[in-house]
Amino acid sequence: MSERVLQTSCVIAGGGPGGMMLGLLLARAGVDVIVAEKHDDFFRDFRGDTIHPSTIDLLDQLGLRERFDAIGQSAIHTLDVVINRNRMTPVDFSNLRGRNQSIALMPQWDFLSLLAEEAARYPNFRLLLGTEVTGLVHNRSRVAGVAAVTKDGPVEIRALLTVAADGRDSTVRAASGLVPREYGVPVDVLWFRLPKTGTPPPDTLAYLNSESMVITIPRTDYYQAGMLIKKGTYGEIQEGGIEEFRARIVRAAPFLAPVVASLETWDQIKLLTVQVNRLSQWWLPGMLCIGDAAHAMSPAFGVGVNYAIQDAVAAARILAEPLRTRTISSRDVERVQARRLPPVRLMQPIQLRLHAVIAKPGGGGFLPDPMLPWQKRVADTVLPVARKVLARIVGRGFRPEKLDGVLLRPLAPHRSAVELRADAQLHRLRSRDKKCATP
Ligand SMILES: Cc1cc2nc3c(=O)[nH]c(=O)nc-3n(C[C@H](O)[C@H](O)[C@H](O)COP(=O)(O)OP(=O)(O)OC[C@H]3O[C@@H](n4cnc5c(N)ncnc54)[C@H](O)[C@@H]3O)c2cc1C
Repeated sequence: MSERVLQTSCVIAGGGPGGMMLGLLLARAGVDVIVAEKHDDFFRDFRGDTIHPSTIDLLDQLGLRERFDAIGQSAIHTLDVVINRNRMTPVDFSNLRGRNQSIALMPQWDFLSLLAEEAARYPNFRLLLGTEVTGLVHNRSRVAGVAAVTKDGPVEIRALLTVAADGRDSTVRAASGLVPREYGVPVDVLWFRLPKTGTPPPDTLAYLNSESMVITIPRTDYYQAGMLIKKGTYGEIQEGGIEEFRARIVRAAPFLAPVVASLETWDQIKLLTVQVNRLSQWWLPGMLCIGDAAHAMSPAFGVGVNYAIQDAVAAARILAEPLRTRTISSRDVERVQARRLPPVRLMQPIQLRLHAVIAKPGGGGFLPDPMLPWQKRVADTVLPVARKVLARIVGRGFRPEKLDGVLLRPLAPHRSAVELRADAQLHRLRSRDKKCATP
């Protein structure tokens, strides 16, 4: 079959949070943009489902708040932890200035569908689902687009700028020869769902004891639960049997005793390998990496989605105009890295430190039950300060991005009301079908 060739100003590999937000913003600014996503839809095994206040601020700016609020979600206002039965609140988002003072938890597919639905209003936006990018196309020493496969055969997408937003195992990054530096994290996460208990305790991010750390993210009608394990030890844990695994959960989080029996087989548990890494150079002539493709974040504080989105906003702010006027140069692309590297370079060491000290199996062992009087005094002094500082660092991030110029006042003409209704209906149908199929 002969290869099809598509032309655009910007091709984005990957329709995750970073890729979809960048696609939407560039489309609003009048840039011709194609997002190539390898899956046929937005449904994934596991995705970060946290939407932090800085992202909700952006949705306000984009006028998407009403539609966002209509999506089923839960909100967390504080990040509480229970360390050896000592409950404490190190993060309290009510300390944030502004309207948005909580983290929203919603299925990532709903969030991505909202962005896709909004982007579809712009005729200069194309989302190619079921399109897997397999490599780069070059024009002399410059990246000039991507090669991809679809079920209708191969396709080449030529562009002034190629963006790698294809996640931590980025194909585009690998094809470019850019190699991230790994900052070894000694833990992995086992994710599973647990039903909510009859009289649930206050919303709590994690329970730690001298053996385990159990995550209990409250979703609308279940816990998104996890256990941090020593990297590479999942096999050993499985050998110990599911019963022992359930007992280990209960030893760290006794309130889960009535519901752990719902974990019957290892098929209900998903292993996620935690990585923290980053590129020293995020770009090549004609190409830019953003989100996890540029810097994989650990799940600590759940900021990965937000950092990918902030990268997208910075990229759109800096690159929309040179892309629209077809004057884009390596200097423009370099400016995106210069803008976003400092926040990443500040956040990743915080995550690494957290894993080294507390967020690891047995990380709660340092605190006895009950706390010694001097420990209580230290906690009473440190926590009120931590609550404010961490609310800012976690909720808004370092150097939060704002929309301005054409990103706020879109240039591109919208689709007709009839086309829009058809698109919205399609997304809703897809979402409903899939939800019905999800256990
Ligand atoms: C265990 C764990 C838990 C986490 N929990 C959270 C959390 O609670 N909150 C949070 O904010 N973050 C969390 N993260 C991090 C978060 O998932 C990522 O940081 C975030 O999703 C990065 O967004 P992205 O758009 O850069 O990439 P991704 O979300 O990885 O999206 C990449 C997209 O590219 C597509 N793709 C991949 N290869 C190709 C290809 N060759 N061609 C076309 N498309 C391709 C993928 O299908 C995907 O849609 C967690 C991470 C881990 C490991």
